[in-house]
Amino acid sequence: MPRPQGKRKLCCKPGHTLYKPNSIPMRNLERIELHLDEMEALRLADKEGLLQEDAATSMGVSRPTFTRIIGNARKKVATALWEGKALEITGGNIEFSQQSSTCSRCNAEYEGNHDKPDICPNCNKESETK
Ligand SMILES: [Zn+2]
Repeated sequence: MPRPQGKRKLCCKPGHTLYKPNSIPMRNLERIELHLDEMEALRLADKEGLLQEDAATSMGVSRPTFTRIIGNARKKVATALWEGKALEITGGNIEFSQQSSTCSRCNAEYEGNHDKPDICPNCNKESETK
């Protein structure tokens, strides 16, 4: 029996969740679903440059699991870019609190802890109060 999968922890939800090649209507495009945990893995490993070990800890998964998640993520993104497919960022086995704030700069949604200053974990800038 496989163990039940633990939920992956996210810093934030990206502000933009659909990418497509320019000038091709959505109905003519094949969609690839990039899960939110895969998106988070890309942020940690490739945008922030974390070691896989640290990125795995941050998401609450084992290192081999992280390696698998990031591998899937890179394959999906590369496939979409090279084969001209739409990328939809959605779903995934994730844990996210209901209380959330939206960053006024990058539009990312993140867990709201309303301490001051309110720093967006995605762009690391202080979110302007609405
Ligand atoms: Zn932000």
